[in-house]
Amino acid sequence: MALIVQKYGGTSMGSPERIRSVAKRVARYRAQGHDIVVVVSAMSGETNRLIALAREIQAQPDPRELDVVISTGEQITIGLLAMALKEIGVDARSYTGTQVKILTDTAHTKARIQHIDETAMRADLAAGRVVVVAGFQGVDADGNITTLGRGGSDTTGVALAAALKADECQIYTDVDGVYTTDPRVVPEARRLKTVTFEEMLEMASLGSKVLQIRSVEFAGKYKVKLRVLSSFQEEGDGTLITFEEDEAMEKAIISGIAFNRDEARINVIGVPDKPGIAYQILGPVADANVDVDVIIQNVGQDGHTDFSFTVPRGDYQRALGILESVQSHIGAKSISGNDKICKVSVVGVGMRSHVGIASTMFRTLAEEGINIQMISTSEIKISVVLDEKYLELAVRVLHKAFGLDQEI
Ligand code: ADP
Ligand code: ASP
Ligand code: MG
Repeated sequence: MALIVQKYGGTSMGSPERIRSVAKRVARYRAQGHDIVVVVSAMSGETNRLIALAREIQAQPDPRELDVVISTGEQITIGLLAMALKEIGVDARSYTGTQVKILTDTAHTKARIQHIDETAMRADLAAGRVVVVAGFQGVDADGNITTLGRGGSDTTGVALAAALKADECQIYTDVDGVYTTDPRVVPEARRLKTVTFEEMLEMASLGSKVLQIRSVEFAGKYKVKLRVLSSFQEEGDGTLITFEEDEAMEKAIISGIAFNRDEARINVIGVPDKPGIAYQILGPVADANVDVDVIIQNVGQDGHTDFSFTVPRGDYQRALGILESVQSHIGAKSISGNDKICKVSVVGVGMRSHVGIASTMFRTLAEEGINIQMISTSEIKISVVLDEKYLELAVRVLHKAFGLDQEI
């Protein structure tokens, strides 16, 4: 008998039929004697619909009120799933984030979980009930509803598993595991039986939305046994996120390719090449809470240099505006940008012990005539910024060049 946290995403909860099928799976696990806590997302498309609705009323929605609106999607699915469970004779009770008391900080729309009160959930489990918890939402110390950022139900799932010291956290989605890259872009992508926690962290942070990055961080910090599975299949082992590199992993130099269409590039041209200039440029951007990702500063010439960096696409106009307002202060000749870019990254712990990954990557892109705008590397990843129109092509050719379509 184990305590299992199961998280079901939007597609898995997307219709009454899907909800009934989730209830059946939960019932099967119950019948095996396991204690089950279920975390659910809103029905697919619902959160997008709610955001659009909010924007119709207020172009820049008030963050507190936006959270009130967008947290409702999950309140619907918890109730529906609890009903579906009762319909098939499984006792269940639903909880919103506030009812559990998933305490977060006050950063509306991107709040972080600080503490989870287990009392009510433990009592329900002891009474033989399935506990159904709304993903993506929490409550701050003043009782305000907060949300955890897009894809945040993954984080609720893993955080609950950590708080309850669950034996396993199962993330059920519309693919049967973590693939070498998004199978919607490369049909030849292969499911990974295991992926190391470190690699998953990179892949999530570089754009593979199969797991929200914070859920992976949580799993790492609290050593949660985490598995990604399909809610559309009866059987299957999915992908296990491991903490050690096994032998098979050692053979794979590259484990996966991640990509992100959600960035924009800003160029600050002809700034004085002097100490403190990076701070003068990036300071005001950071003060406005804009995350800066890839940064490049050119070698200076004639006392001047160029500076480029990427920001989330949603913050592009705001970041440009900020820089234009400080342009004369920092002494920049011009400020320009491009929001039609993408970032493609190859990820693998095997890179540590292999040379030549970067040259294979650059040669492969060059052979396709794809120009690289920016490069950023770490021990286990290489990222390149490209024109957005090359995204699919780049991911496909790199997937092939690194032999990711071959069984290992
Ligand atoms: P859910 O609603 O269940 O949370 P998401 O849409 O958030 O599902 O995440 C699942 C999707 O992630 C898949 O449908 C797939 O298109 C995408 N994805 C991106 N990268 C990968 C990858 N490396 N492996 C598997 N799926 C990926
Ligand atoms: N419903 C939320 C979203 O669409 C949270 C989630 O699905 O994980 O982002
Ligand atoms: Mg998701």
